[in-house]
Amino acid sequence: MQSLLEVRDLVVEFPGRRGTLRALDGVSFDIAPGEILGVVGESGAGKSLTGAAVIGLLEPPGRIASGEVRLSGQRIDNLPSSALRRIRGRRIGAIFQDPLTSLDPLYTVGRQLVETLRTHLPLDETAARGRAVELLREIGIPAPEARVDHYPHQFSGGMRQRVVIALALAANPELVVADEPTTALDVSIQAQVIDLLKRLCKEQGTAVMLVTHDMGVIAEACDRVAVMYAGRIVEIGPVRDVIHAPAHPYTVGLMRSIPAMDADSERLAQIDGAMPRLDAIPPGCAFHPRCPQAFARCRAERPGLIDAGRTRAACWLVSTPVEDAE
Ligand code: SF4
Repeated sequence: MQSLLEVRDLVVEFPGRRGTLRALDGVSFDIAPGEILGVVGESGAGKSLTGAAVIGLLEPPGRIASGEVRLSGQRIDNLPSSALRRIRGRRIGAIFQDPLTSLDPLYTVGRQLVETLRTHLPLDETAARGRAVELLREIGIPAPEARVDHYPHQFSGGMRQRVVIALALAANPELVVADEPTTALDVSIQAQVIDLLKRLCKEQGTAVMLVTHDMGVIAEACDRVAVMYAGRIVEIGPVRDVIHAPAHPYTVGLMRSIPAMDADSERLAQIDGAMPRLDAIPPGCAFHPRCPQAFARCRAERPGLIDAGRTRAACWLVSTPVEDAE
């Protein structure tokens, strides 16, 4: 299937007084229409930065140094900011962790939905208001005819995030970039919000890039997953395969950090060590200081993504016979 989003060799840099730091280094992936790609990793891995680069919201002085981002074949990484802003409203929806950053406290949710709808679709005021009520109903807001005139603070956190999802999807975008959309919510309602996002996107054929640190959310929502470490994708493949048969030792560690299903093991197995700082990324495989399986080649040469059966992994173990790796 033709990809809706194509990201090729994306490099993001932060120029500074002591030199330029490379925060994303050759990130490539595709998302098909109606597909949900999860992007997962620890904090500092570059997952949110990848989302920000795709939608043109990198915080200065961060900048795309090279690579391409294409939406339905059209290159969007080199557009002027005004053109990109239009694309962001109409063709790309964004959902962030805190719903209050996406909602204006001074306007009712109905007003905000009507504005969004009317900016992007040929609807008059009455039709847009009708559609706003319909959207609130679709996302499970009780008594939408009354709630449409309420302000964001009159909604609970979970309801507010539902409204943000409705806003992001109001103009039928081709792509939604959701960055930790449930992290600020109560565990009890996280699953409902993820279900809603998943259902609406599947119904509308919207491609989704879902950035999260939570493998549980990935397992629940995504079709494929890209695992990031130190600014690079270290494993990518169908969720089922990455979860059940991870090929990269970092993915194996991430999987172990999910609380085990059986009640006996209460402790999380953590990956020893920490993600390297941008100015101290080790040579060779960036994961080698933390990797229980590192061998000589890992310290000298950096692996690219290698076919590992059902997934692709940036690890020399994938291409090295076990006896040579010891
Ligand atoms: Fe570990 Fe080496 Fe694979 Fe890196 S390349 S993950 S250090 S085995």
